Amino acid sequence: MRISITGLSDEQFKRPLQLIANLFFEESEVHLNRIEEDDFSVTFTLEQNVAEINVSGILENDGRQLNAVHQATVDTSLPEKEQFKAVKNAVSHVYLKLLQELTGIKQKWGILTGVRPTKLLHRKLRAGVKPEIAHKELAEEYLITPEKAQLMQQIIDRQLAAVPDLYELKKEVSIYIGIPFCPTKCAYCTFPAYAINGRQGSVNSFLGGLHHEMRTIGQWLKERGIKITTVYYGGGTPTSITAEEMDMLYEEMYTSFPDANQIREITVEAGRPDTITAEKLEVLKKWNIHRISVNPQSYIQETLKAIGRHHTVQETIDKFKLSREMGMDNINMDLIIGLPGEGTKEFTHTLNETEKLMPESLTVHTLSFKRASEMTKNRDRYKVADRNEVEKMMELAENWTRQHGYEPYYLYRQKNILGNLENVGYSIPGQESIYNIIIMEEMQTIIGLGCGAASKFVDPAKEAITHFANPKDPKSYNDSFAHYTNEKIKILEQLFENKNEPASL
Ligand code: SF4
Repeated sequence: MRISITGLSDEQFKRPLQLIANLFFEESEVHLNRIEEDDFSVTFTLEQNVAEINVSGILENDGRQLNAVHQATVDTSLPEKEQFKAVKNAVSHVYLKLLQELTGIKQKWGILTGVRPTKLLHRKLRAGVKPEIAHKELAEEYLITPEKAQLMQQIIDRQLAAVPDLYELKKEVSIYIGIPFCPTKCAYCTFPAYAINGRQGSVNSFLGGLHHEMRTIGQWLKERGIKITTVYYGGGTPTSITAEEMDMLYEEMYTSFPDANQIREITVEAGRPDTITAEKLEVLKKWNIHRISVNPQSYIQETLKAIGRHHTVQETIDKFKLSREMGMDNINMDLIIGLPGEGTKEFTHTLNETEKLMPESLTVHTLSFKRASEMTKNRDRYKVADRNEVEKMMELAENWTRQHGYEPYYLYRQKNILGNLENVGYSIPGQESIYNIIIMEEMQTIIGLGCGAASKFVDPAKEAITHFANPKDPKSYNDSFAHYTNEKIKILEQLFENKNEPASL
């Protein structure tokens, strides 16, 4: 879809208008000028009178003309950047209304294209705004529907029930540990994940680097009396290394991390069932790790084959049962809506199979075509459901989880996600993952160790966020882990320099 936009010369408008166009059309091009052979054009008129802005838009398509207007106020005492945001939102309102009318598609998240909508509601509630007023403001500011505002409220209520001190966690940190190996690479994957076979040399060096990072960062935290709230082992598949290697890694965690016995939650993603063995489960138990993920994604064998997961459906079921028998009492399972060749029939089968296992939490993703994945590069080869069918599957997931006692406790959105829907984490109340809540709501610093681990530093006082990423491939990591550890310590020094005094929260 080629779209000509006139009346907006500032290039800063291009990206937000492109992101909104992507909500409606699979492939769209937005041009801030009149182009030959466009599919339709939108002409904007902006009139600003001190603090009041009036935006009108006319969409022309094959002789058809649609009109929309929006009026907003701009706080002129704010920095220029914030004032531009208000103008951009007003333009987005008009644009969204025009595209909704043109296509007949209603965007339930309104003009929001960001990843973490719940953060907006958290912010308002923390500022003391009453929930019903906050929902109204979200509808006015972003055109969010009452249905989505309600979903966000339900999620926030669950988060605060699970972690009552969520807003005070900034003085602690969480740790993410990235293990970049998997048995094979899945077709939709963009994580740092390297097939482990034949790479033992690389695995050994990688683990050497990781132990160094754990010791150095652990020491720094101990010296400053900074506690660890949660630890999350992800990747890759952290259970693709041997039981012995896992044992040494967890021993390092207990030796190097401050008060490791008091860490509230330790999760190990055992995502690929083909990596789970009784021996590895023994190691997890030995180190008191009870929260794991065993990810079916789908219970249809042909789908698993099509997406490059070389394990059987039966193996998922067997390994889940084995984990249960061996004492794992908090198991998460990931499902994906819209995998190639799947519709409501296949997804209903997947839900029926889930019912036989009843994991404590269930994360329902909607397939997203990430730029670097094999699936996106060869998109023609993968037949996926259309928007309506994806929406129906999402509804099936919502109803099924409700009927089976699960509640949504976090959500995030992605670009290029089928049907512009969201990924939702459900859990049986009381079994929520604290780490998932912290990372989604950006409530505290998460220090990333290991390959491809992204650190997110949240300033305890100002709440500003700094990102920092470790190298993605094992070779670069092995060459430079000491440097990356030191860089993280430098950032931590700046953030927590007055840590002995309680941070003003
Ligand atoms: S198991 Fe997960 S990390 Fe590994 S290749 Fe598949 S999607 Fe990627």
